[in-house]
Amino acid sequence: MTGLIRSWVESANAPDCPFPLNNLPCGVFSTADTDPRCGVAIGDFVLDVAGLEEKGLLSLTGGPLLDVPFWNDLMEAGPEIWAALRARLTALLAEGSGDREAVTPFLVPLADVTLHMPFLVSEYTDFYAGRHHAFNVGTMFRGPENALPPNWLHIPIGYNGRASSVVVSGTDVRRPWGQLKGPDDAAPRFAPSARFDIELEMGAVVGQPSEGPVTVTEADAMIFGYVLLNDWSARDIQAWEYQPLGPFQSKATATTISPWIVTRAALEPFRTPSPAREKPLLPYLAEPGPMLYDIALEVGLTPEGGTETVISRTNYAEMYYSAAQQLAHHTTSGCAMNVGDLLGSGTISGPEKGNRGSLLELSWGGKEPFEIAGGSRSFIQDNDTLVLRGQCRGEGYTIGFGDCVGKVIPALADPYAR
Ligand code: MN
Repeated sequence: MTGLIRSWVESANAPDCPFPLNNLPCGVFSTADTDPRCGVAIGDFVLDVAGLEEKGLLSLTGGPLLDVPFWNDLMEAGPEIWAALRARLTALLAEGSGDREAVTPFLVPLADVTLHMPFLVSEYTDFYAGRHHAFNVGTMFRGPENALPPNWLHIPIGYNGRASSVVVSGTDVRRPWGQLKGPDDAAPRFAPSARFDIELEMGAVVGQPSEGPVTVTEADAMIFGYVLLNDWSARDIQAWEYQPLGPFQSKATATTISPWIVTRAALEPFRTPSPAREKPLLPYLAEPGPMLYDIALEVGLTPEGGTETVISRTNYAEMYYSAAQQLAHHTTSGCAMNVGDLLGSGTISGPEKGNRGSLLELSWGGKEPFEIAGGSRSFIQDNDTLVLRGQCRGEGYTIGFGDCVGKVIPALADPYAR
């Protein structure tokens, strides 16, 4: 495993810094004086790569790719350009670089910026590919014998979500209203969700389009990078609506992503194999090599005015299906994929109680409230703030994603009372 690549940006060399030269994640930032523009995190700074390009210090194709407030144009330019960007930024920022003086004016303190959506989400698909999560939820809904649906060990199960629901970290999330019916209710009613929840997931950002079916190897090469993803879920709406076509309004309120796309190149040293297959997969889903990543994940919950409790710790390596397998499966029908497609991994739970990636599992359907500092929870209460964090630990360095934060604010008054 490669060690830290040292930078003349001193803060980037600290072993705990989430943004060393090894990372170079892609985001969109603004300051009091500038409109949103492309930037790359390095140490305590954002490197204004749009500014560098404008100055002629970062010419990748002869034409501009970064003069827009999103990374889609760069992604569309293809893997060779992705590699060229990484190589050029590494040369500019490496210890001993002759470009230090020219580049320094383009460093903006992270403390001074507002972060925006890093890319235009063309479409959004969410999967259900965590073995422990699927087993836990299935056990609650159908009992342990029928926990996994018969197709689960053969198909990466997913549903088509809404690109319009995807928001960047820091955006407040309004508790939704919806149609609810408990098992003992005679009839459904329309009310604010009382079982509002998170799902701890990773999002894969598709950087290249496809027209027909692609292999797992081809799919992997289409992925530009990864973000943390919180698939906010109204469990009471979901329980009533989900059969037979899967979740709909329960998942449409919001999906929060972390502000930096961590590139596949930065994650390369952390590749890890998926778990042993319990049933052989059809050949088109076969993996040519390790397709998951060793990414330590955690969830923090902070009540209004309170202190944070870490309520879950798990790892992306717990997934049963990789993003490359999900993407390959997504194309089997001939479904075209676009630059900016976002694939949610599915909730990432681990084997133990403390590894569960949703409150539904942590409180076992609300039957076993869990402790937090100064209280307990079954589901999210108004003004709770939820944060997802992720990191890879290299030799003497850390690859971070930036926090994926959302505060749940109270439901509006009845939206139909007029
Ligand atoms: Mn989900």
